[in-house]
Amino acid sequence: MTFADLGLSPKVLSAVADAGYTQPTPIQAGAIPHALQGKDVLGIAQTGTGKTASFVLPMLTRLEKGRARARMPRTLILEPTRELAAQVEENFIKYGKNHKLNIALLIGGVSFDEQDRKLERGADVLIATPGRLLDHRERGKLLLTGVDILVIDEADRMLDMGFIPDIERICEMIPFTRQTLFFSATMPPEITKLTEKFLQAPVRVEVARAASTATTVTQRLVKSRSKPWEKRDVLRKLIKQEEEDLKNAIIFCNRKVEVSELFRSLARHEFNVGALHGDMDQRARMTMLSNFRDGKLKLLVASDVAARGLDIPDVSHVFNYDVPIHAEDYVHRIGRTGRAGRLGKSFTIATRSDTKYVEAIEKLIGQTIEWHDGDLSTVEESESADEAPRRGKGSSRRGGRKDEGRERKPRGGRHHDAAPSEAKAEAQEEPAPKSTSRPAGNERKPRDWANDDARPAREHRGRRRNDDDGDTPVGFGDDVPAFMLIAAKV
Ligand code: AMP
Repeated sequence: MTFADLGLSPKVLSAVADAGYTQPTPIQAGAIPHALQGKDVLGIAQTGTGKTASFVLPMLTRLEKGRARARMPRTLILEPTRELAAQVEENFIKYGKNHKLNIALLIGGVSFDEQDRKLERGADVLIATPGRLLDHRERGKLLLTGVDILVIDEADRMLDMGFIPDIERICEMIPFTRQTLFFSATMPPEITKLTEKFLQAPVRVEVARAASTATTVTQRLVKSRSKPWEKRDVLRKLIKQEEEDLKNAIIFCNRKVEVSELFRSLARHEFNVGALHGDMDQRARMTMLSNFRDGKLKLLVASDVAARGLDIPDVSHVFNYDVPIHAEDYVHRIGRTGRAGRLGKSFTIATRSDTKYVEAIEKLIGQTIEWHDGDLSTVEESESADEAPRRGKGSSRRGGRKDEGRERKPRGGRHHDAAPSEAKAEAQEEPAPKSTSRPAGNERKPRDWANDDARPAREHRGRRRNDDDGDTPVGFGDDVPAFMLIAAKV
């Protein structure tokens, strides 16, 4: 099958040919003909499958008739994160190069005025994160009654981020005569319910479940003791071992705090490293990403939420500094390498307390992952209290062993969890990290709700999965005064 068989307009076909794509991917072949007929589509597909073009191309074709009116966008695409929204905009620019369309991007971290001007001019395509969209609407700057096509992308991620009530509100603001194109990598019950409420007789298009990893990726588990400094040591050695093949790598951590700590540690050890997580402002995230894409940064430390859906071609290595708690996240992470038939490598650092998560991953992907250099049976844990790792709320949620790091010592300094040699190095003046932006990690800064994609009202699901906002300290957090640690007499 070719793109010409799908019913796309000549202008779109010419842009697709210029992009160098000859054959539609399965999600494109399945969704585009129905989308062109104006039908609702439920696409079950993850990033990397060509999902974006599967809605952008038919939308471009359909937008060729009619024109935009001030403040009344003709189409609306909802994305969970700023990066994804920006990526969709890039797709519209690439495939819409033969069209004269006004595209407005409404995301947090960018001034309202500029966005207002775009809305005022009349937008053919409005791409938005839910929070910023509602902010504009509440300011009276936006009417959604002219929207003919609504796209809800990465719906399961919206759920994770607590956006579902917002999505429901937005769906109710748009005439029911609209066409809805709905995409999700997985279909948890909440998402099924949403589709039942807001889609009309949708055509269901499902492509390869998020349970398969590319055969071009060599996957390995790497044993480690559980202390952070031990894991960091293992990671550094791995990176050095892989130096020859390593073009660039993403290093995944489970939590924002770890992203921050690991980034600082790698920078101190003079690796060419950057970091990506939800607390960085839009400009810093974009700069970081483009530096990584352009090869100016070799390593990128990231959390799942920050990295989800980012189109970073040709990553040679993925390192999982933490075993992901949700098995599907493993598949998403590994999917960053070995793309388009290229060879890739992934290394997952595993400690004894990760065993059940490793088992869940192996069950999901239907294969056992080989150990790189011997399995955990040879690992003995060092349990001296001096090395007790910092335990933020929830950091032991991987079922850490009972005897592990229970006792807390007052923190003498920031790096109390470092190995003796590393602690010494770290106690000295820290060299300025090389990258342009430091992750905010555990630096607590006042939250800018106006510029934030996830405001508290939306956090209906309580604690978010893979919460990118990290842990909120409880009581004294890690800075417990010494007198509080004196054993109480019972
Ligand atoms: P997506 O799933 O939309 O994030 O797309 C993943 C990657 O596949 C992007 O780099 C697209 O440019 C690329 N892509 C999209 N459609 C095709 C196609 N038909 N053939 C080859 N690559 C494609």
